[in-house]
Amino acid sequence: MAKFNYLPVDVQEELRNTANAIVAPGKGILAADESTATIGKRFSDIGVANEEETRRAYRDLLFSAPAELNSYISGVILFDETVYHKDAAGTPFPEVLKKRGIIPGIKVDTGVVTLQGTNGESTTQGLDNLTKRCQAYYDAGCRFAKWRCVLKIGADEPSAVAILENANVLARYASCCQQARIVPIVEPEVLPDGPHDLERCQKVTETVLAAVYKALSDHHVYLEGTLLKPNMVTAGQSFAGTKPTPAEVARATVTALQRTVPAAVPGVVFLSGGQTEEEASVNLNAINQYPGKKPWVLSFSYGRALQASVLKAWQGKADLVAAGQKELLNRAKANSLASVGQYTGGIVGAAAGADLFVKDHAY
Ligand code: 13P
Repeated sequence: MAKFNYLPVDVQEELRNTANAIVAPGKGILAADESTATIGKRFSDIGVANEEETRRAYRDLLFSAPAELNSYISGVILFDETVYHKDAAGTPFPEVLKKRGIIPGIKVDTGVVTLQGTNGESTTQGLDNLTKRCQAYYDAGCRFAKWRCVLKIGADEPSAVAILENANVLARYASCCQQARIVPIVEPEVLPDGPHDLERCQKVTETVLAAVYKALSDHHVYLEGTLLKPNMVTAGQSFAGTKPTPAEVARATVTALQRTVPAAVPGVVFLSGGQTEEEASVNLNAINQYPGKKPWVLSFSYGRALQASVLKAWQGKADLVAAGQKELLNRAKANSLASVGQYTGGIVGAAAGADLFVKDHAY
């Protein structure tokens, strides 16, 4: 084996402390890193125009929610534009978050592109100058990052090339982040699109995660300074059989993680992936109640499942900001309880049961 060096110990320590702070007991991540195009789709659902000031005002609503939010949310993922936006008093958003004890994060990938010759599979771009970009985000206050790769389930998918390419690009991303003292959240999302059953999703998720951790090892990534952001193991969106129960989702999800995710990883923060707000909370709760070996914190990094009710209540109106913030507190509280297996259900918001599935979801 070729010679290599571990990261300097002070860098390791900083990364480990950041990762552990993000998965502090009862806390999780608000993913508010929708690209300009994606937030535009969310706005158009509520009849709001996609303008820069509106995007700023909406993020201001989220980040100026009452102090109760601080006990549920440890980190917020921002989109590049938002890092440089300010609140009403002129304070940059990363500073606003830091002051309330919430760690700012940043989406650093630049989106998915098709892998030529495959059946619509993709890889994710954004490696060029990534360490430099991470250093600039660090200077702007960000301490963790996200990079989303997408795998799809089909008769012959994911293909070997899609699994290998996405695992490798996630490992290169993680390596670039860690050199800049930024904790990488490694996100290989197996999409829920399709008629597959729970077992097929479990096997695909296991195969993808095994490849990801092999690549992270090959690239000398410091696992204690990373977090994993996977899909939960569920049946496909158009599965024709009986929908698996939360207990069945929990068993399949925890089993897949046990088989593939090293115990050195401090935490797993699930994406919501088109589940309804209530489903995402109930399933996370079942995962934490599942009586098996769980050497990592199991928490949340939700986008749609933390914001659907907020958007619906807000409607882009200044006089409804407080109503939107109330919905955010409700969902954040439900998921905080679920992350320690204490959610008994019934925190129902303006969009709690609404279908949040988006075909071929981009972010
Ligand atoms: P959802 O929770 O809406 O799936 O999004 C989380 C995310 O950050 C996907 O990259």
